[in-house]
Order: sequence, then C-alpha cells, then structure tokens
Amino acid sequence: MSSFIFIVPSYFGVDMGNSEGTYQIGPLLIAYEKVKSVMDEETYKWHHDTHYAGYVNKRNEVESELSKVDRSKANANYSAFRAMKLEETWNGNGMLLHEMYWDTMGGDGKYDAEMEIIKRLDEDFGSFQAWKDDMTATAKSGRGWAVLCIDRFSDNKLRNFLFDAHNQGGIVGSVPILVVDVFEHAYYHKFGPDRGAYLAAFMDNIDWKKVDEKFNRHKT
Ligand code: FE
Repeated sequence: MSSFIFIVPSYFGVDMGNSEGTYQIGPLLIAYEKVKSVMDEETYKWHHDTHYAGYVNKRNEVESELSKVDRSKANANYSAFRAMKLEETWNGNGMLLHEMYWDTMGGDGKYDAEMEIIKRLDEDFGSFQAWKDDMTATAKSGRGWAVLCIDRFSDNKLRNFLFDAHNQGGIVGSVPILVVDVFEHAYYHKFGPDRGAYLAAFMDNIDWKKVDEKFNRHKT
C-alpha cells in the first residue's frame, strides 16, 4: 500500500496497466471474507469491477477529451468544455472515494481508547458515540457519501462531511480519513432499503488501526 491520496496512477499505488491513460484501476486488496457482513459477494465484485472501474476509465477518457476540446467555446449554460470539466471531478472523486471506502474496511469495529484518532474524536465530537451518531445521521442524509475528514484549512478539527455526489459537498483542503458509500448500489442487494442496517454493519467492520494510522499520517 502506498501513501495516502493524491498519487497517480491510483491511491493504491499499484499500476495494473488495465486502463488507457494516466489513471489505473487499483486492485481490490480486501478479501471478500473480511467484508461479507457489509455486502454480498456479487456487490463486492460489481462494485469494484463495474462501478469503480467505470470511474477510472471515464476519468482517463475525459482527460483525453479535454486535451482536444475547443476552449474558445467555453460557456456556463452549455459547452462541451463545461460538460467535461464537470465529469472530470465526478469521475476523479468517484475513483478516489471508492478506493478510500474499501481501504478502512475489513476490521472488527473495535478500537483502543489510546489511539490518537479516538482521542481526537472524543475531543472534537464530545464522545466516540456522539461521532458515531453524527456519522450515521450524515450517511442517512446523503445520496452519495459520508466522509470523516480533517478540516485542515478551517480549524484542523475532525468533521463528518456529506458528499451528496462524488463532486458535491467536499470542503476544500479537507483530508478524508474514513469513507462510507451510501449510493444504493453499495447496499441494496444485501440490505434492500434498510440503509440503517448497512450502516450498523459498516460500523462493526471498520479497521480502526488503519483509520488511526491515516489520521496520524495526515494530522498537523
Ligand atoms: Fe459506490
């Protein structure tokens, strides 16, 4: 595993050579057995091989098209350039958020009170339970993602942000530490419309050691 975020060709730092362009489809490094409480096996495969791979491939396609599009026709009501600029961030964040989503799954949901991340959640939210309640509420309110971030450029506090779409809702400069996908494709096949049951299973599947490592790497 390579260093966290902002790396090319992919967050995983593994060049699979399987997409044409700058960005490569990272492997699904987590074994199905480790996440079966959160998703069925078909979703495990579809989510990576179809949804996630689609974002990587389209990110490459958009990048290629952007090198050719006529910038002199740029227009905010409609222009090919505008459409591509919107899809650039849709697919770019679609790629990165999925990689981060799987990265801290596969644990047992247990944590150590001495972990830096747990101490900071206590400090910034009042208690671990208050963070968990807020994260669950954020995830129930979103159409796309709930993301625990270090809000670096504001006051450096931990906050749960709602990314309603891949490219809508993030705070500039904030660093994602823990990501949950709440698009229906992530849970409907196993849980139907019961998003709460999916989120409870997700919370019990967090690898807090990894979250703590990530927090320590990116806190300032
Ligand atoms: Fe997804």
